[in-house]
Amino acid sequence: MSFTLAIVGRPNVGKSTLFNRLVGKRLALVDDQPGVTRDLREGAARLGHLRFNVMDTAGLEEASDESLPGRMRALTERAVGEADLCLFIIDARTGVTRQDLVFADILRKRANGRVVVAANKAEGNAGDAGFYEAYTLGLGEPVAISAEHGEGMDELRAVLEPWAEKFENEVAEVELEEDEEATDRPLQIAVVGRPNAGKSTLINKIIGQDRLLTGPEAGITRDSIAVTTKWGERDFRIFDTAGMRRKAKVQEKLEKLSVSDGLRAVKFAEVVVVVLDTSIPFESQDLRIADLAEREGRAVVFAANKWDAEDNRAEKLSSMKEQLDRLLPQLSGTPLITVSALTGRGLDRLREAIEKQHEIWNKRISTGKLNQWLIDMVASHPPPAPGGRRIRLRYMTQAKTRPPTFIAFCSLPEDLPTAYKRFLVNGLRRDFDMQGVPIRLELRKRE
Ligand code: GDP
Ligand code: GDP
Repeated sequence: MSFTLAIVGRPNVGKSTLFNRLVGKRLALVDDQPGVTRDLREGAARLGHLRFNVMDTAGLEEASDESLPGRMRALTERAVGEADLCLFIIDARTGVTRQDLVFADILRKRANGRVVVAANKAEGNAGDAGFYEAYTLGLGEPVAISAEHGEGMDELRAVLEPWAEKFENEVAEVELEEDEEATDRPLQIAVVGRPNAGKSTLINKIIGQDRLLTGPEAGITRDSIAVTTKWGERDFRIFDTAGMRRKAKVQEKLEKLSVSDGLRAVKFAEVVVVVLDTSIPFESQDLRIADLAEREGRAVVFAANKWDAEDNRAEKLSSMKEQLDRLLPQLSGTPLITVSALTGRGLDRLREAIEKQHEIWNKRISTGKLNQWLIDMVASHPPPAPGGRRIRLRYMTQAKTRPPTFIAFCSLPEDLPTAYKRFLVNGLRRDFDMQGVPIRLELRKRE
């Protein structure tokens, strides 16, 4: 579970000392983008089993006892606005000062009750009086800590824990019901591709009988057909898109028809098998149907067919992979399996790839894992601060499977650059092993 804690308070109360203790070595890297002021230090904090983001407002100039310099006030207000919870530190040895009262005032106005007070430097007994004074701030029961000596950390954790739970519940509200994974249901696949790529031959081989008509002449007219068959250990329901083949013969109108036929099969399918003719792979129709499948959120597997007729195999394979990355970057990482529908070679590998992609497509990642991951991602590469306003990513949860769909709560969703979104999506792919499956990331506004 992830939330952001801002450590606020006047200079010298021990904010940095506490920050360093919470973050240890997991300190946020400072972004070196020009023009971006990073005066809010940030890091991934660990306190017992609690994990959260922590933000430090330390390092500003000394303020006079009467007032706060504008810069410090502005920074504190910003931190309060960006954080989920504020930890207001006072110095237990000094007791409550006038400047502390100014901070308390900001917090009362801006933090919406999301404040925890800590009286620091409370080791030994020197801080007793100051600790009791902290009650007079009217911001709830204080917790006595010593950032320097690591005392009171269990108490601090106990105070933060209910907040962590509260934030977790807020996230849970948007989590949808877990889809029932019915493994006894047939896995639905669509076999699509250009006319003559070998779709019918492939399906025939899979079902082991001559149920579909095949022939070298493109343009044999059939309707979409679905067959259910056992393949390997489980049942598959295979949608054929015969309509696609009509395209070869003719006009615009029929082309539209064939695409809509393909679309229909794609919509039925969980995994779309794009059959390529290895001698002419990734032609425009192949690209279109593969892109369509991706946009429909389907898992995709490429079957590079007629491999038996290929002489220059190594060269061909690397050139096809290069074409895949270049022409279909949105599908990079998608399995490309060389097969021969005619001889049946490679069909086991094809089936395994389909099952693997289907599994990824159905994958669910726990909110806890996602948020731990998010903290690390943000710490290693913080989002930019357009116009000095830092974009905060608060929590993340997986709202749906089929395809994996995530919601990230963000302070300024419109301002999060596409490149950063891509950074997150690519990171999800890499770190949770979800290659070659569409991943959706939705941003939702959350102050
Ligand atoms: P900041 O300006 O609020 O970030 O405060 P610092 O973390 O820089 O600490 C100010 C001074 O207080 C430093 O000399 C620290 O060593 C000292 N300090 C911090 N925490 C404690 C503590 O728990 N006990 C005592 N006695 N001193 C502390
Ligand atoms: P569809 O239009 O995609 O359904 O393609 P078909 O299954 O009708 O196959 C078109 C032509 O390609 C036929 O002549 C098939 O025999 C031939 N063909 C299909 N698969 C293979 C293969 O793996 N190797 C070779 N050499 N020819 C194939």
